[in-house]
Amino acid sequence: MDDSKYGKRDKRGHWTPDGVLTPAPIFVLPPNPLKFLRWLPNYFLPWNVFFMLTATLTWLFLTPGTETTNTLSWDWIALIFARNLAAFFVFYGVIEYRLYRQRKQENRFKYNPNFPADKKNTVFMFGSQAIDSVIRGVGTGVTIWTAIEVITLWAFANNYVPMASFSENPVWLAMIALLVPMFHEAYFFAIHRALHIPLFYKWIHSVHHNSVNPSPWSSLSMHPIEHFFFFGEALIHLVIFSHPLLAIYNLQSLALGAVVGHVGFDKIETGDEKGIDTHAYAHYLHHKYFEVNYADGLIPFDKWFGTWHDGTKEGDATMQARWQKKMQRANAGKESNEGGRA
Ligand SMILES: [Zn+2]
Ligand SMILES: [Zn+2]
Repeated sequence: MDDSKYGKRDKRGHWTPDGVLTPAPIFVLPPNPLKFLRWLPNYFLPWNVFFMLTATLTWLFLTPGTETTNTLSWDWIALIFARNLAAFFVFYGVIEYRLYRQRKQENRFKYNPNFPADKKNTVFMFGSQAIDSVIRGVGTGVTIWTAIEVITLWAFANNYVPMASFSENPVWLAMIALLVPMFHEAYFFAIHRALHIPLFYKWIHSVHHNSVNPSPWSSLSMHPIEHFFFFGEALIHLVIFSHPLLAIYNLQSLALGAVVGHVGFDKIETGDEKGIDTHAYAHYLHHKYFEVNYADGLIPFDKWFGTWHDGTKEGDATMQARWQKKMQRANAGKESNEGGRA
């Protein structure tokens, strides 16, 4: 495919898609029902339907029954870890292998023209972004994901928490399933914004931001504390009269859905003139500029808090103006402190 038909590459080779990033037309004023209806299928397809499917298969065929999960023992915990590990390597590995190892489409539709593997970077273990990310993703990522899933299954199996059933509470459970992505958006915006408070950023979140030029492996490259808060989102199912299947759906859409923002390419080519839109640009801009797009725009939190970058030159200018103001405030604060001491 010819990416120049869909965007522009600057002198340094960085590619920007045409068009303006806009938040989903759900909480916008004035309401635009037609736009909302046109957008609605995107809420389900492809990802939420895909993760609902993988979660259902996982629940039916790869999760032991309550007679097993009501007692904590290593054999079934190992099974949950193994299937999560397999999902991590298959799902991330396939995309990483095609785009970053085989380089099937070279750097067409790639925002940053460079491939992380081409340059050693001492900020990463063994100088490699990929190795560092896989060690973190498996070491604490899949482990904490599994731990939260195990606690959830064990608590439901022992009736420590109330559990709804699909035969008696189908409408309630369908509503929870429908709201999982919304809840994620609100929860993730809150924890992500908090992780950008300078102290937390320095000690915790900077690990994730070491990948300035992210690839799929970067998705779960986080500090263990961030992994805990990230996957901790699914603990909500223990207090809302939910069902383990929905907790698994929530966990899989976190663990695997994180790839959406970290593909690094705007389209994955599937034919000479065909490609799948990745929707990675909003979060790519977060990795590039740090203080924009804390969430992905399903709920327009970034618009409301003035941190939305719409991917255009005007978006750049707004960000620069905000940054200038922030620096001026910081300098004014410093001067008045110095004045006070003098
Ligand atoms: Zn990220
Ligand atoms: Zn961040």
